[in-house]
Amino acid sequence: MTTCSTVYIGLGSNLDNPIYQIQQALLALDTLPITSLSTHSALYQSTPLGPQNQPDYINAVAVLITKLPPLILLTELQTIENKQGRIRHIQRWGPRTLDLDILLYDNKQLQNTRLTLPHPGVYERAFVLYPLCECAPDLVLPDGQRVYDLMLRCSAIGIKRLK
Ligand code: ATP
Ligand code: MG
Ligand code: MG
Repeated sequence: MTTCSTVYIGLGSNLDNPIYQIQQALLALDTLPITSLSTHSALYQSTPLGPQNQPDYINAVAVLITKLPPLILLTELQTIENKQGRIRHIQRWGPRTLDLDILLYDNKQLQNTRLTLPHPGVYERAFVLYPLCECAPDLVLPDGQRVYDLMLRCSAIGIKRLK
């Protein structure tokens, strides 16, 4: 019998009504096979990473309970991105309708051509750490670091929690 895993997903959008895109993505996550959406953070507005000539982002973190293995889950997330109009450009961190990243999958640590766990952004990105702490303030990363401590060390300049 496959056991359930706890997975943290980072959501981001800065094109075609980003708030709607994130809301739609949360609904889509809740309909994945052998998966349920446990909770999600509030929405945050953040200034872009990388190229600055693009709109601000809307971000959130969702918590899934799933029996999907990591690579199958990644494929499912990419299908949702594509259904919501994600177009992949050569430029790194360019504007997009939807980005769904696997931040953490239980305590797994792995690095292959398709998947790095934990996602490297977990250690340093305000738009990941602030919503992640809202969902799981006591969370400890596989290397023993507390997300709450990482959040305290991470500047909140450029991010805003939306009411
Ligand atoms: P970043 O990963 O720095 O946030 P990005 O989200 O814009 O950048 P994408 O274009 O969405 O990057 O994804 C590029 C590739 O990253 C994907 O094809 C996927 O195989 C790979 N990838 C590696 N680790 C992860 C992960 N933890 N979650 C999602 N994608 C990942
Ligand atoms: Mg990303
Ligand atoms: Mg991505």
